[in-house]
Amino acid sequence: MTFALPEMHQRSIQETKPSMKNPALKLTTALVLGTALLGTAAAQYPERAVSMVVPFSAGGPTDTVARSLAEAMRPTLGQTILVENKGGAGGTIGVSHVARSKPDGYTMLLMHIGFSTAQSLYKNPGYSSDSFEPIGMVLDVPMTIIARSDFPADSIQELVEYVKANPDKVSLANAGIGAASHLCGTMFSRAIGVDLLTIPYKGTAPAINDLLGKQVDILCDQTTNTSTHIQAGTVKAYAVTSKERVPTLPDLPTMQESGYDGFEIGIWHGLWAPKGTPQDALDKLQKALQAGLADKAFQERMAGLGAQLLPDRANPDALRAHVDQQVPQWAELFKQAGVEPQ
Ligand code: ASP
Repeated sequence: MTFALPEMHQRSIQETKPSMKNPALKLTTALVLGTALLGTAAAQYPERAVSMVVPFSAGGPTDTVARSLAEAMRPTLGQTILVENKGGAGGTIGVSHVARSKPDGYTMLLMHIGFSTAQSLYKNPGYSSDSFEPIGMVLDVPMTIIARSDFPADSIQELVEYVKANPDKVSLANAGIGAASHLCGTMFSRAIGVDLLTIPYKGTAPAINDLLGKQVDILCDQTTNTSTHIQAGTVKAYAVTSKERVPTLPDLPTMQESGYDGFEIGIWHGLWAPKGTPQDALDKLQKALQAGLADKAFQERMAGLGAQLLPDRANPDALRAHVDQQVPQWAELFKQAGVEPQ
């Protein structure tokens, strides 16, 4: 099928066409036009809202970070960032969704340590590190071991005693294999030598709701989700998984202090875009991430929730290097612990 311009338009185009007989003029015109076109395309990104995918339920720890970060990145990006929740299978459903998304700069992923661990916990997680362009690291959050408010244990020692005495009665919530809560729950089960009954959710927001409703007993979750409940006394809290105590939760001992040597885990978060995202978009997203981490309101909110920002590592090289080091390390740890991929 061919398109024919109406006669009148053909004429006006021919009439206004400059003479192109001179090759130097031709080249200059092409260069000017090319530069103008490129300039316009680069200046235009982003021309609409950008989506930040959170591979867990709304209202949970990753979602809490995402919504604050989206707000803090918005002024520099010049567009709204919409948080999209795609929970399930320990986060792998949302992560693989981003891996398959159009690499046009309009989709990014906020994920945590599970990005690395799931690659050896699943035979086919639906993505690999190569499915993404790293943007940068964001922050690190400790975890807390908590229980429903009427759980019959007031310290980590009492919790362990109770679990050992009632191994079939205690349920442990998590956000699916590969989630941070699964990782921490597994470390706890192994440390005390009891296989607990686990209840998977699409994120720890619904898990904590069931804990508040007393339908499930214990949960290991990030302080970005548990701090407000611990401070309000609506859950029982036993210990933090960081090396040092968390300043905003000073009464909680570390697992190390509680006698669990080496029980230390921080949930680092990173930002990625699908492989093939144009460099110009990646640069703008990274600049917006840096600005977001320097935003006072974001800094205060995250510090209040026990998170530590990682501005010095909020760049592609640092995130790539971290993941490249972590993936084989976790694979080896799981192998040694006899954890088979699903
Ligand atoms: N971070 C997850 C969430 O936002 C849960 C997890 O990793 O355990 O729900």
